[in-house]
Amino acid sequence: MAGDVVTVGELEAWIRQFADLVAVHCGELTELDSAIGDADHGTNMDRGMQAVCAKLDATQLGAADELFKVVGMTLVSSIGGASGPLYGTFFLRFGTACGPRAELSADDVAKAFRAGVEGLVARGKPELGDKTMFDSLHPALDALDAAVGSGLSPAEAFVAAWQAAVRGRDDTIPMVARKGRASYLGERSAGHQDPGATSAALLFEAAAKVFEP
Ligand code: ADP
Ligand code: MG
Repeated sequence: MAGDVVTVGELEAWIRQFADLVAVHCGELTELDSAIGDADHGTNMDRGMQAVCAKLDATQLGAADELFKVVGMTLVSSIGGASGPLYGTFFLRFGTACGPRAELSADDVAKAFRAGVEGLVARGKPELGDKTMFDSLHPALDALDAAVGSGLSPAEAFVAAWQAAVRGRDDTIPMVARKGRASYLGERSAGHQDPGATSAALLFEAAAKVFEP
């Protein structure tokens, strides 16, 4: 993957693609949240990502850190649920790791993903197996790092990460939730796919689509 440059324009396209996928899957995300939560994950994410797109339309952006600051701050302020501060922190930390640059290497992007997830973990304290978005983000990050390390193109690396995120998402089905609203259900949360793990897989699907050759 070395030598393949990722531009701020591509990163912005990734965010807009994520917004599109969230809009398409809004009903499904809310339905999943109605089974083990309060039926608002789709509307939360859609409201947040539509606000992000409106903000991006109205902002002249230079560097990657500015882009993700806008994304993160907008999500924190426009989503009421748990997912607002979690995704918001993810993007804020992602941007800090990118720094004031207009072009990044694939390795830089993989590192930014890891920094973003570390921020989310510091905030929500999820552990593997808790039935949260972390159960899809964690395997996706490992796949992304492995792909970057073995020299795959950004397109191939994001497809590998997406596949791992989807497996991690599906693995949440039998889990008993130990974080968030779903944990109030105890054993009754088993047998349902986690809404946050489902939206997190869309993040990687969006990247795979934007970097597709
Ligand atoms: P709320 O639960 O406040 O209604 P959402 O419905 O938007 O917020 O988001 C729910 C999702 O947030 C869950 O499916 C889960 O993936 C994620 N989540 C909740 N609490 C945590 C946490 N402490 N750490 C990581 N993810 C969490
Ligand atoms: Mg909810």
